[in-house]
Amino acid sequence: MESFAPALSETTYQRCLEKIIPEPNSGCWLWFGATNKKGYGHIRANGVWWLIHRFMYTYHKGPIPKGEVIRHTCDNSSCANPDHLLAGSAMENVLDQIRRGRFKPRQGICKPVEFYIERNEEWRKLLSR
Ligand SMILES: [Zn+2]
Repeated sequence: MESFAPALSETTYQRCLEKIIPEPNSGCWLWFGATNKKGYGHIRANGVWWLIHRFMYTYHKGPIPKGEVIRHTCDNSSCANPDHLLAGSAMENVLDQIRRGRFKPRQGICKPVEFYIERNEEWRKLLSR
């Protein structure tokens, strides 16, 4: 674990575990610590705020590839179970949201997402996987 930032210390990890309750049915690790404005759990370590899912991913699986986001395979944004976390592109993350009917286009700017899916062959292919 030498290549990890000091923030990813065992101490910080233990602090995280104190604020997590494993949920037996889904296997999700539910975060009940502090959250940011968007409802994502976060923790401060060595002066840096980490989103819990990004912290847990990095701690267990290694650095997040540059430019990639962390996706929840369980669709539970307060889940911190590394087994439910996958790195991927922002595009894949949006596709996840569309598949689950969770994508919310910005009001007044975008048309409903079906409008784009209908016209975008690439998206249709990805969504039918
Ligand atoms: Zn989960």
